[in-house]
Amino acid sequence: MDVKTAVRNQIRIFNILKQAKLNNRLSHAYLFYGEEGVGKKEMAYALACLLYCPNNGCLECEVCQTILEGKHLNVEYIGVEQSKTMISKEQIASLQEEFSKTSLIEGSRVYIIDGIDTASVAAQNSLLKFIEDPINSAQTIGIFLAKDTSNVVPTILSRCALQYFDAYPLEKRVEQVMEQNIELLDAILSCCLTNNVLEAKEIAEDSEFIREKELFLKFIDLRNSKEAVLFYLDNVAFFDSERKISVLLKWTLLFLEDTNRVLDSKDSLILQPLYDKIKMYSVDFKTKIKDKIHLILNLFQKLQYNVIVKNVFHELIVNWI
Ligand SMILES: [Zn+2]
Repeated sequence: MDVKTAVRNQIRIFNILKQAKLNNRLSHAYLFYGEEGVGKKEMAYALACLLYCPNNGCLECEVCQTILEGKHLNVEYIGVEQSKTMISKEQIASLQEEFSKTSLIEGSRVYIIDGIDTASVAAQNSLLKFIEDPINSAQTIGIFLAKDTSNVVPTILSRCALQYFDAYPLEKRVEQVMEQNIELLDAILSCCLTNNVLEAKEIAEDSEFIREKELFLKFIDLRNSKEAVLFYLDNVAFFDSERKISVLLKWTLLFLEDTNRVLDSKDSLILQPLYDKIKMYSVDFKTKIKDKIHLILNLFQKLQYNVIVKNVFHELIVNWI
């Protein structure tokens, strides 16, 4: 799987990482876990792109290309060697040795250990000090990949931000929800809210979802501050919970990212049934899309800190147009 496909399939995870990067809150160690072929290794490289890319992890520019081709001097990868079944202690030792040297180029450094769950307990433990206190002063991020967490030593687990990779990419889940007589847009919107197909179907049939969808479609149609104020007054009472406002933020983020894709003339949008709206929006707000994405990511962050939901809605509307 190429990195772009993996990122699209696991867009929610990529957005979480992007948001953390924007807010300077990346963890110094990650454990990505999930079955083979769900895009863990690809996401590890995408995370490296987020760190170095001048365009916020575009996966296209020269810097990103260097990383994706495995040629970036500050990104080290080790995986299970051919004809072997596990990561050896020697591999880990030589990685640490490599990181003890001063890097040829400045900036953060990333190491990816693919198959940390295959390494012996001793080999894993030899990493502990390295995770906490990498020899070099530059920011170092470790990304560990594993099938599941059961063979990873607890001391590593407790030091990592854990990220589970679901085996079902969005497209597949959307197809399955549609097989249950849910129309395409509803299937996409509901699948963006949960990884569980049955739950997505239930969400799509819920009256609250129908109202949320209506408001989302109105929201992305707002074109001037008068309309925005009216929208605020009409709906401030509805957005009374963190869940409702984060649904609006999630869909809006997808919409903006699709708008970016249209601007970059890339195909394969997530919200393809809204293609006409997205196209029109990209014309009207061309220069403002990045600011708007930034706004949404910041509001997500605020929601995590138990701010008053109404204030988040207010800030969204005030800064939207
Ligand atoms: Zn880039």
